[in-house]
Amino acid sequence: MLSLACRDIGLADCEFVATGITEEELWKKGSEHILKIHGTEDADITPQFKQKDRQYIKFT
Ligand SMILES: [Zn+2]
Repeated sequence: MLSLACRDIGLADCEFVATGITEEELWKKGSEHILKIHGTEDADITPQFKQKDRQYIKFT
């Protein structure tokens, strides 16, 4: 299982942790959450964003 916590990517006040079996699923859940809760446009989940934040993905 892959997981990525909001606080690890700089959203310190959020307890949300996205999880997924695949990286694709992880990004899908993460981008839905970010769009809904943090109000960021989906277009902001760019390849650069993923490249930068991929380092924070945890494998459990
Ligand atoms: Zn969040």
